[in-house]
Amino acid sequence: MTKEQLLKEGVLAKFLRYVQIDSPSLPGQTTTPSTPEQLVIAKVLCEELQTLGLNDAKVDEYGFVTATLPGSVTGCPVVSFLAHVDTVPGVPGRGVRPLVHENYDGGDIKLPNGEVLSPVAFPKLLEAKGHTIVTTDGSTLLGADDKAGVAEIMEAICYLLQHPEIKHGPIKIAFTPDEEVGSGIDNFNVETFGADVGYTLDGGTYGGMQDETFNADNFLITITGVSSHTGSARNAMINAVHLLGEFVGAIPANMRPETTDGMLGFIHPDAVQGSFERVEFKVFARDFTSDGLAKKGEILASLAEDIMRRYPGSKVEIERTGGYRNMKEILKDRPKVVQIAQEAIRRTGTEPIMQQVRGGTDGSQLTFMGLPTPNLFTGGANAHSRLEWASVEWMEKAVEMIIHMAQLWAEETKA
Ligand SMILES: [Zn+2]
Repeated sequence: MTKEQLLKEGVLAKFLRYVQIDSPSLPGQTTTPSTPEQLVIAKVLCEELQTLGLNDAKVDEYGFVTATLPGSVTGCPVVSFLAHVDTVPGVPGRGVRPLVHENYDGGDIKLPNGEVLSPVAFPKLLEAKGHTIVTTDGSTLLGADDKAGVAEIMEAICYLLQHPEIKHGPIKIAFTPDEEVGSGIDNFNVETFGADVGYTLDGGTYGGMQDETFNADNFLITITGVSSHTGSARNAMINAVHLLGEFVGAIPANMRPETTDGMLGFIHPDAVQGSFERVEFKVFARDFTSDGLAKKGEILASLAEDIMRRYPGSKVEIERTGGYRNMKEILKDRPKVVQIAQEAIRRTGTEPIMQQVRGGTDGSQLTFMGLPTPNLFTGGANAHSRLEWASVEWMEKAVEMIIHMAQLWAEETKA
């Protein structure tokens, strides 16, 4: 690609190019990126940035692509835009064949492999009537999550390069690995990145914005019983598998992911391994408030004590292995970060729709690493599915939103 081609092609052409570069991540890896393919797309993006004249564009050892668009305004906060290059493992994600449906008529979209994308099942489609819709052939995911975000950031850079009359400060961008497996962003160096505020472009349909996530504690719980030959086990054996059953059975039924929604948190036993001597299992606790999360930790601790009290000789140990915090705890003290994004969305012609994420985002980690980072819409929908789709008009709105934010931040003074 030449600089001229990159500047002129538009967001759709960029999107179609990126989704055809395979880049699924893989859980359980000890290296970042978790798959070598992510380095391939990282290099493509880095080369494009260099072609555009962003001379500091580079890919680091973990696969993070970073670059700076210099500004015409000084003394304002440095704003940054981030999107992840990996696609979710678990849904076929290699060999994506994107299909472009122009002037969508509001009816069913029949995909070549037999799947049907219908507004009956996905009413959001009706809001995109008349739009150009991108789907796959139905055999893979599309990868709008999050290559729509990548394409939009790239396109916004192209737009600003062609419109030097638009005043903005320095803009940092980052394309990041392994978001879908939750292991990438820990390796991101917020300090060297040098931005004051960040936005992930990793949301859904037009107008949506997320500034609130779960608080999360991940636990590894180990139950140790007392082993004995089964033939002489009477009054001797304590079977850890039975204790596991009692422990899990005592988790309140109204605190499960499958019995909660909205602002309610949960306790989720996730994976088990072991035998009658010793069982290890993972438990996820989630809540929007720190108090609610602490309460869930206390429930687990009291279940552990109860087991040990009733079965002398048994041992239940709880170890916290990771988690993240609700970005709102920081963002509530940095109101401009959210307000400017809301204003930028309004300037694209709609009211922002504030949403909570019943999970975490890279932004929840970044926010606590010192870079306040809410999440913004990309125009994609049905993420993590072979029925994933995106509206080109909404993607163009996301590009517009980025440009408005660049301008709005240029009017602020650096703290
Ligand atoms: Zn995503």
